[in-house]
Amino acid sequence: MSIILHGVAIGGGIAIGRAHLISRSMDDVAHYLLEDEEIPAEKTRFDEAVKATRKELEMLWGSIPENAPAELGAFLSLHIMLLGDVTISREPREIIEKQRCNAEWALKLQCDHLVEQFDAIEEDYLRERKNDVLQVVERIFKNLDGDAPQLPAPEDLVDDHILVAHDLSPADMVYFKDSNFAAFVTDVGGATSHTAILGRSLDLPSVIALHHSRELIREDEMIIVDGEQGVVIINPDALVLTEYRRRQRAWRGARRKLSSIRKSNAVTRDGAVIELLANIERPQDVEEVRESGVVGIGLFRSEFLFLGRDTLPTEDEQFEAYRHVATVMKGMPVTIRTMDLGADKSPKWLNHCQAENPALGLTGIRLCLAEPLMFRAQLRALLRASVHGKIRVLFPMLNSLPELKQALVQFEYAKEELRDEGIAYADDVEVGAMIEIPSAALVAGSLAKHVDFLSIGTNDLIQYTLAIDRNDDTVSHLYDPIHPAVLKLILHTIKTGIKANVPVSVCGEMAGDARLTRLLLGMGLRKFSMHPANLLSVKQRVLTSHLDEIAPIATRMLRSEDPDKIADLLQMLNAEPGV
Ligand code: PEP
Ligand code: MG
Repeated sequence: MSIILHGVAIGGGIAIGRAHLISRSMDDVAHYLLEDEEIPAEKTRFDEAVKATRKELEMLWGSIPENAPAELGAFLSLHIMLLGDVTISREPREIIEKQRCNAEWALKLQCDHLVEQFDAIEEDYLRERKNDVLQVVERIFKNLDGDAPQLPAPEDLVDDHILVAHDLSPADMVYFKDSNFAAFVTDVGGATSHTAILGRSLDLPSVIALHHSRELIREDEMIIVDGEQGVVIINPDALVLTEYRRRQRAWRGARRKLSSIRKSNAVTRDGAVIELLANIERPQDVEEVRESGVVGIGLFRSEFLFLGRDTLPTEDEQFEAYRHVATVMKGMPVTIRTMDLGADKSPKWLNHCQAENPALGLTGIRLCLAEPLMFRAQLRALLRASVHGKIRVLFPMLNSLPELKQALVQFEYAKEELRDEGIAYADDVEVGAMIEIPSAALVAGSLAKHVDFLSIGTNDLIQYTLAIDRNDDTVSHLYDPIHPAVLKLILHTIKTGIKANVPVSVCGEMAGDARLTRLLLGMGLRKFSMHPANLLSVKQRVLTSHLDEIAPIATRMLRSEDPDKIADLLQMLNAEPGV
């Protein structure tokens, strides 16, 4: 029987392939209710898993080499002790009994409860023991479900594999970036979550926020992923398969056709030159960018250098990464955003992010200013790389002028250090401010006086203006780039830049959405930075646009506060041929 699921479309075309279920352990555990007669067997299954875990830990403890550090023995003893504690070995049994949950679910509930208690502890050492509890619980999970698939090695994936996951973190996406697979689908995630953004950059068909795909799709089952419509079809019949093969060919054909404009300049029908720039996440992404016809890098999300690893990258490592990108781009501008860590991009070594509300916590520039040594190491690396190309530095998540000034002080300090050490850097490195918090948009005028350029991060600007968590698919229907409040903030920023003679770009997902190209042109935007996968469709829109024809419709859109009217006008703006 075939099943159709609907989620959020991330694009990338259509894939037809075999499902490969991947698991991120604890967050993916099965949830089901037990019949009364199943409860005793479930408790025994749990006891067996605890027993097997104890055996494993004792075996490990018995095989510690003599020259191993003393802490290793101490940690294993601690894990054995934790395993024996009633909160781990007995209380989940009671949850199974009382709430009729399966063992994995009961253990997950108990684990969440323990984590909450640990988070409330003031004392650092004790609070950090939370990770020991998590490690012990993780081992019990493995023993409960010996077959649970873990993240596969990238080289084990093949081109007709479709990854099916509950969720993929930004670090997972980086892990899979060089792998060969056909598509991916997840149960959670918002349209501008970092997972979705990276998914788009993979340029593979993908659909997120499917809610139940992990429960409904079995390993190796045939599935269709329609990344354009946000549809996943499990076990399609022959007729549906034939239709989707036709659509897949049509999509690929249209894509090939679009590649004929790869080399054309992005100029409107009335001669306005538009700058199309690329967003990248990793230094190696730059090779592909060189071929894509962009005039520079508008956003290098440098924080991805800091993810998926156990330690902080050194200044030299960072320098190599920035130097590489600057060199490959041969004098074209390369805008490197200083690390925008925190919230959903929290590396293992960062202990700051236990906040209740991480998107409003210590992220972006706030974290950099709280960790000046870490920040300065990055600024030094950027400055050192500036002699190898045209590097520009961009500060993320600013909310006020004092914050920008503090960042600039650190920048000057980094220069001074290099001067004292006799290390070369370019004198003319431009500095920019990201406008992605409404307060920053409203004070863009004062920020503009201290920087060389502004870059609007619409993903966060929308999140913070509309109070919509961009990672939460339950509110993703409210995530609205053409909300009048969002448009007013973008317009204000663009106008402020024009008045102050400070160039403004958009580097959020809005810049890569061809349906919004004309609207942004009508608002006065001339610089768009996006994933290379979106370049040709945006360029196509630019080539078929006429600014004089756009202007009156865009003006009406920007004056209106009626969402229906704005949507109708947008449709009118995008009407072909012409506008
Ligand atoms: C944005 O917020 O629009 C942006 C470009 O930054 P990120 O998506 O990495 O938060
Ligand atoms: Mg942002």
